[in-house]
Amino acid sequence: MTAAANVVLSEFAPVEQATAEPAFRQLDPTPELLAELADASERLETAQPEEIIAWAHHRFAPHLTMATAFGPEGCVILSMLAKVAPETYVFNLDTGYQFQETLDLRDKIARLYGIEVDMLQPELTVPQYEAFHNGPLYKTNPNQCCFDRKIKVLRAAATKHHAWMSGIRRDQSTDRARAGIVEWDKKFNLVKISPLANWTKKDVWKLILDENIPYNPLHDQGFPSIGCWPCTRAVSEGETDERAGRWSGTAKTECGLHTLEQQDGSGI
Ligand code: SF4
Repeated sequence: MTAAANVVLSEFAPVEQATAEPAFRQLDPTPELLAELADASERLETAQPEEIIAWAHHRFAPHLTMATAFGPEGCVILSMLAKVAPETYVFNLDTGYQFQETLDLRDKIARLYGIEVDMLQPELTVPQYEAFHNGPLYKTNPNQCCFDRKIKVLRAAATKHHAWMSGIRRDQSTDRARAGIVEWDKKFNLVKISPLANWTKKDVWKLILDENIPYNPLHDQGFPSIGCWPCTRAVSEGETDERAGRWSGTAKTECGLHTLEQQDGSGI
């Protein structure tokens, strides 16, 4: 190669470096950030969910995401996102055990709102996973099953964002009663925003019916809370706990996404 050619190549080399994407860095929970979140949470305590979503978008986009299991609350937030920030990346933890009705709802929402929820799957398919464990783990060790098929997937997704929104409400359970509107999520290392924390079940269903928001048809068949089909059953009339139909016959009440305890029993 001639000296002149070397000069030309060396002139081009830095251009490639200059166009490289800057590396994504996760947020650090510095005292300044935690104070900012506490202040925002207090200010937003009386705000409407759409205002909270707009604040989250303004503060964290494009590193804001939302996780949905297509429950009534998730569908309500998706309908609001379509108005406020439709470009937000939304994902579902697709365990491979979801009801067909849930998967169909994803398509309905995409058609109606133009929001394509990304279905994030665990490393192993259901047949591979069950073969590896000599049978379905949800029967023998549901905590490990949730950990492998939900928590690990959410953890990987969380490393690519600064903040996530969830549809939890404080009145759903004692575990959820302490949820802040905005808080640092120690478990997944990002900011967590709960626009519906102050809403009741009645508020959610009123908006769904008033605005004709799509919802899972299983809710009309006695399923108040819907997760994976092996761990969800319809409830009878006397059962008032919204989550009574989840992991029936076990002490388990949460998959671990919204609790500080790790569901594989090893602690945080
Ligand atoms: Fe497994 Fe049941 Fe958890 Fe779904 S809800 S990941 S099937 S244990």
